[in-house]
Amino acid sequence: MQSNFNIDTRLLHSGRNPADHGGLVNTPICRGSTIVAPTLQEWEARKTPGNPYASYGRFGTATTASLQDMMAELEGGHRSLVFPSGLAACTHSILAFVRAGDHVLLTDSVYGPTRAFAEDVLTRLGVEVEFYDPAIGAGIADQMRNNTRLVFVESPGSATFDVQDIPAIAEQAHKRDTFVVMDNTWAGPLFFKAFEHGVDVSIQAATKYLVGHSDALMGVATANERAWPLLRAGAQDFGQTTSPDDIFLVLRGLRTLSLRMQRHWESGMRLAKFLQEHPMVERVLHPGLPDDPGHSLWKRDFLGASGLFAFLFKPITRAQTEAFFNSFSLFGIGLSWGGYESLVLPMDAPKRAVVPWDSKGTLVRVHVGLEAYCDLESDMAHALEATALAAVPNMKPSVEVTTSCAPFHSAHLLEKVV
Ligand SMILES: *Cc1c(COP(=O)(O)O)cnc(C)c1O
Repeated sequence: MQSNFNIDTRLLHSGRNPADHGGLVNTPICRGSTIVAPTLQEWEARKTPGNPYASYGRFGTATTASLQDMMAELEGGHRSLVFPSGLAACTHSILAFVRAGDHVLLTDSVYGPTRAFAEDVLTRLGVEVEFYDPAIGAGIADQMRNNTRLVFVESPGSATFDVQDIPAIAEQAHKRDTFVVMDNTWAGPLFFKAFEHGVDVSIQAATKYLVGHSDALMGVATANERAWPLLRAGAQDFGQTTSPDDIFLVLRGLRTLSLRMQRHWESGMRLAKFLQEHPMVERVLHPGLPDDPGHSLWKRDFLGASGLFAFLFKPITRAQTEAFFNSFSLFGIGLSWGGYESLVLPMDAPKRAVVPWDSKGTLVRVHVGLEAYCDLESDMAHALEATALAAVPNMKPSVEVTTSCAPFHSAHLLEKVV
């Protein structure tokens, strides 16, 4: 796809070629293990350097190639690889670069399961694991050793949404030929241009916004030219595959990514501001808010915000916490995020090795979905009212959420168009 078109246009046209599939608009689900060659010459011509068995279902079909091509283009990297989950993309992107005796630096705000993998698996394999303060910036230079092979960044970080100075970290890492691997799931390929900010490998838990409909799990890792041979070889040797049926769902989800992200961003900001004003809320952790510690870096480096953030309650009782979570009609209590639907999640105190998490209040992660915003705000207001009432004996909150939404966008659109 010609790269001078706007990314919102390329999102619709890249990664597919109807002429290859009988005119079908979408690349079909191509399933298969054996791929036969008509002649010996053609069989031999398919051998690729480093992989004499490239013509085999384990290395993907046309469906896989569609997604990998599209992701490399959207992320602005050299090539992409799909993995069966976001976590698999994280763990294999690390394993592809390290050997026993190497030192790896990970942000203290890294996604919990990536942290567990580093602490449990990498250390067992003889890799030294060290966590650094997400706010470190160029100070990462002081943590680097002769054997530091990789710096893992995630911005904003899981649970606490700390924004990292990735260009400053990448500059220091590259002075020593150290690779910078990023979990870029929160912003996705549209809102953070990882390669323009010095990242060598950008990872997406496609399970989240790329799938967008909470119906498949997948990961994608995209590398620049320097990191690609190592990433590909490292991943290939593990023999993982990703189902073409699931890849089809990611391709389908991607077509509407831009539209969905606009709505997640807008509604997420509005709900974050609403919560910030609420008397029961201690603090909202969202880098889009002007008084957030990560706001200036977010404004400098990001092109938008997702619908995921957190907030901290002022001290409340267990009964109040139960009243809060049990009073929603629209927000579900559940893991994952990035689907069309809204979620709330009670968070354990974030595990931190460098700067301990010292807030005692209940931490809640919020995923703002695509429902009409006014309904979401009413549902949240209702749950907060129930939380307040649960502190007073014999007070029962109303069961009904009161909301009055005008049909979405009609007035607003008419003004613009007419
Ligand atoms: C969910 C998530 C992952 C893992 O994705 P799965 O597909 O659930 O394995 C990785 N990183 C971040 C930041 C996530 O939120």
